[in-house]
Amino acid sequence: MFLMATQTLDELGRIALPAKIRQSKKWESGDSIAFYELGDSILINLYEKAHEPKCIMCGKAELDMHIGKFSFCTACVALIKSELKFA
Ligand SMILES: [Zn+2]
Repeated sequence: MFLMATQTLDELGRIALPAKIRQSKKWESGDSIAFYELGDSILINLYEKAHEPKCIMCGKAELDMHIGKFSFCTACVALIKSELKFA
């Protein structure tokens, strides 16, 4: 682990992620960032991309099928197929 940058908290407890970190990680406006406790430290990592397509049934990002603007993951496609067999 090495020091990448330092920032100063403002009066509301906010910091800005330095541009070089956002660019190197490809983090963009609207992405969700997660904070993990790691001993006495806090680890910051991407939680969810803002504009990444997700399965409309379960929210997973590993997609198998797209119908119009709707996307489905492999597990949900299998579930739909199994349900249709018994309809
Ligand atoms: Zn799914």
